[in-house]
Amino acid sequence: MKSPHSKKVKIFSRIRVVSMQNPKWTGKCLCGAITYLVKNDPLMSGCCHCDDCQRQTGSSFAPLLIFNKNDFSSIGNTLVEFKGTGGSGKSVKRGFCSICGTSVFSWYEVTPDFLVVMAGTLDNKLKFLPEWDIYSDQAQHWIKFPKEHKVFRSGYGSD
Ligand SMILES: [Zn+2]
Ligand SMILES: [Zn+2]
Repeated sequence: MKSPHSKKVKIFSRIRVVSMQNPKWTGKCLCGAITYLVKNDPLMSGCCHCDDCQRQTGSSFAPLLIFNKNDFSSIGNTLVEFKGTGGSGKSVKRGFCSICGTSVFSWYEVTPDFLVVMAGTLDNKLKFLPEWDIYSDQAQHWIKFPKEHKVFRSGYGSD
């Protein structure tokens, strides 16, 4: 069983908006207490259908943007993380706003240089172009994967 407790942490230190001129990507939680800026395009974009992501988002799947962690800065001190274990057995930190509950981003111990952002928090949703689906074996029964997507039964790169 996963431990049900969560704690307030700073996954990333607070950085002022002025530290990033012309961010390419911006977003925020539902209440606006957490905002973020990203200075470069994501390395990849896709959707995760695993049971954990469904529960975390309260939705049918998680729309994900994978950014280089160093390109990312967030402002706000209401972020709480829930630490769990991923399919790899390594830890996964899922960050959400302690005021409004929005899932904003996740960090995976297996890919420590990446930060995974929930695409529903983007200011400009038109920029999100998912290219793949992972954990298709856990997808909700009504989901139809787009023909042009790469579909993996479990994690990225699996069959
Ligand atoms: Zn919030
Ligand atoms: Zn997932």
